[in-house]
Amino acid sequence: MLPEHLQRQLACRRGNRGRFAPSPTGRLHLGNLRTALISWLITRLQGGEWLLRIDDLDIPRNRPNAEDSILSDLRCLGLEWDGPLIRQSERRGLYASVLSALRRNGRLYPCRCSRRMLADVSAPHGATAVYPGFCRNRASGWGAEQGRLPSWRLRLRPGVLGWSEQLAEHGNLAAETEVGDVVLRRADGFLAYHLATAVDELALGITDVVRGCDLWSATGPQVAVMRELDGEPPQYWHLPLWLDEQGQRLSKRDGGLGLDSLSDQGLDAAAVVGLMAASLQLVPPGSRLSSGELLQDCSLDRLQAVLCRRA
Ligand code: GLU
Repeated sequence: MLPEHLQRQLACRRGNRGRFAPSPTGRLHLGNLRTALISWLITRLQGGEWLLRIDDLDIPRNRPNAEDSILSDLRCLGLEWDGPLIRQSERRGLYASVLSALRRNGRLYPCRCSRRMLADVSAPHGATAVYPGFCRNRASGWGAEQGRLPSWRLRLRPGVLGWSEQLAEHGNLAAETEVGDVVLRRADGFLAYHLATAVDELALGITDVVRGCDLWSATGPQVAVMRELDGEPPQYWHLPLWLDEQGQRLSKRDGGLGLDSLSDQGLDAAAVVGLMAASLQLVPPGSRLSSGELLQDCSLDRLQAVLCRRA
C-alpha cells in the first residue's frame, strides 16, 4: 500500500484529459506534429483538457532550444494546451516518493545486470527483450559493487496486464513472460521513463494517451507500474508513424521535415494542417485550413474510423 497522500495524488481523474508528451531531443517533425494534432483533436472532440508535458528527465538526450521550438511550433499550428506547461524534471520529488514507497514495501530489488550482458542473452533483433530475472532472487545490497550502483527493478506480480486500445486489439500481456521486471531507477541514478510516465498518467488524470505506435512496447511496462500503484491505465491510441519517401520513419534528431523546413518549402501553418489532415484522408490533398476548422469539420467516429483503417 502506498501512503495515503501518494494514493490521493495518484487518483485525480476528472473528465476527459489528453496529453502530448514530447522529449526535448530536437525539433518536432511532421510525424510528431501530426500526433500532436490528432491527440488535440481526440481530446477536444470529447470536450476534454489537453496537457503539454515535456519529458525531459534524460538530460544527456535533451537538446538546447528544443523545448522552445516545441512550444512555438504547437502555437503556430493553433494547438493550445490547457494549464501550465508540465516538465518532468520539475516533478522528480513525486517520482522519488513513489519509488521510496515501493522500495519500503519490498516491491523493488537491486539489479546488477549490465545492458551489454542483457543484450547478449536477449531475443533476436526486433523482439522485445524481457528481463530474464537473473537478480530477482539474488542476495545483494543497494550500494555500489565494483564502483557500480545497481538499477532498481520492480518485481512484477504474475498475471495478465490488460489495457484498452482504441485502434487495435486490446493489450493483453503476461507480466512474467512478456513484460518482465521493469527498471524504475537506472544504474546511473536517473529515474526511468516508465516510472515517470506511469506516475504522470495517474497523477495528471490522463484518460487518453495518443502516441506513435513505436511506443506500443512501452505500454506493458507502464501499465505494470500503474497496476502496482493501484491505478487504472488510460485508454491508448497508438498511431501509425509518418514515413518518408524511402519508407523510413522520421527522426527528431535528424532535424528533417520540421515546421522550419516546411516553411522554407513555402508551406505555412494552414498548408501544414492541410497536409497532415490530407495524409489521413480527412480533407482533399492541397487543402488549407486551421486546426480549429478541422476540429469543426471532424467527429470522433470519423477520426477513429480513418485511424483504424491506417493502424
Ligand atoms: N516522450 C516520449 C517521446 O517523445 C513520448 C512519451 C509518450 O507519449 O508516452 O518519444
